[in-house]
Amino acid sequence: MTNWIQLFRNHFLCVVMLFLLAFGFSASATFAQQSAATKAPTVSRDPAEPLTGTPHPKILPRPAGAIARASVNEKSMSALIHELVGCGTRLTLSSWTDPKRGAGCGRDKVVARFNEIAKDSGGRLQVVVDKFESTSARTADKPIPLENVYAILPGSDEKLAKTIILVSGHFDSRPTNVMDPEADAPGADDDGSGVAVSVECARLLSKAGANRRGTYRATILFAAVSGEEQGLLGSTHLVDWLKQQGYTVGGMLDDDIVGADTAPGAPHRVRLFSGNGEIDDADSPSRELARAVEEIDGRRAIRLIFRVDRYGRGGDHYPFYKAGLPGVRFTEPLEDYIHQHQTPRTENGVEYGDYEKYLSFTFMGDVARDNAEALRQLALAPATPTGAKLTGAVTPDAKVSWSAEDDPERAGFEILWRETSEPRWQVYDFQTATGEMILKGVSTDNHFFAVRSVGKNGARSIAAPTEMERRPPPLPTAPKQ
Ligand SMILES: [Zn+2]
Repeated sequence: MTNWIQLFRNHFLCVVMLFLLAFGFSASATFAQQSAATKAPTVSRDPAEPLTGTPHPKILPRPAGAIARASVNEKSMSALIHELVGCGTRLTLSSWTDPKRGAGCGRDKVVARFNEIAKDSGGRLQVVVDKFESTSARTADKPIPLENVYAILPGSDEKLAKTIILVSGHFDSRPTNVMDPEADAPGADDDGSGVAVSVECARLLSKAGANRRGTYRATILFAAVSGEEQGLLGSTHLVDWLKQQGYTVGGMLDDDIVGADTAPGAPHRVRLFSGNGEIDDADSPSRELARAVEEIDGRRAIRLIFRVDRYGRGGDHYPFYKAGLPGVRFTEPLEDYIHQHQTPRTENGVEYGDYEKYLSFTFMGDVARDNAEALRQLALAPATPTGAKLTGAVTPDAKVSWSAEDDPERAGFEILWRETSEPRWQVYDFQTATGEMILKGVSTDNHFFAVRSVGKNGARSIAAPTEMERRPPPLPTAPKQ
């Protein structure tokens, strides 16, 4: 009998314990639900797309007073190239002292033209001849003398005058053998055209400044460099020179082979090359400069090419790009290799040589206008924001933050975004103050973001893309097999 009672008692206790356990669990679950309901509701999933109710910011119009195409002087561009070609060769290894033939002859023609323009600028444009030495495999590893020519238009804003926007062409040329200082090397397109564009930009912009129709907040530099064909020696030196002078590079436009337009059909867009950079999930300053130029000059004028240069080739924007500075390259739509880097000759009925007769001044004039307008708007713009950052990972809102120095001429900031696969930015919103903007219901994962400054005059800085707050943790290394 005792066994029966014990069995019953044990069974009863088991049932009670089970009941208590079940009741306890459900009670604690209820409690958990209640506590969640009393807290602020948190959304723990990505926002739905497509987004509804995105802001429609007021977009300030671009600065008035655009450079008119009709104001470009094609004749003076043509005259300068004719004089440069008349130097016979402008190979950097040729004479720097002979006024009739060689690199020194080329330098003299550029200096003379800049001096004429400076006279018309009311004394604002300053002409500088920068002499230096450099060495490369293409100087037979021996130091050689080089000279760059600069015309500088100082900025009117005390702070921004230390930011420099520059345009450059190279006045050196080359025959087939890059070590031969005797052979003819007319270099009308490569790169008489780029030099003519740089010099014409100086004329267009310094004249406007002298007439008080426009002064530029940042400093503008118009360069004609040497040593390009010997291994980008002049532009490499220019990066250092600007640093020594205490300038921050706000943008570098390299014009190299911009004089011919043999592409059949239209529109005849100049190509604009820009490198990706090496930052995860954010494009390089060069890419941002290219986007800015396309926005200023329009898609019908500019063909963006998202690579640092033509495949396997280089140019003077490269030392800027490699230094993390915004540097891009303009080049004509279709190149003709028979008229580049060739000692003039006729072989099997084919005429080789970089002559003036293959140039199009209609096209080159367009390129000059587009460069000048890009320089103008960039030099009128407030400084690019710094420290742009994206936070808000694993939340339904993106948070974009940035900083910028005080600037009474700045209207505010445009917060930009784009699909990760889209090449161009769009304006998401506008904010007058520096700091942070919360983009409600915008995924941090499905878009890229940037911020740019907007002046009261409507000029935009180049965009500063946000860098991620932190990098994802490194992937576990695969076990060895
Ligand atoms: Zn070139």
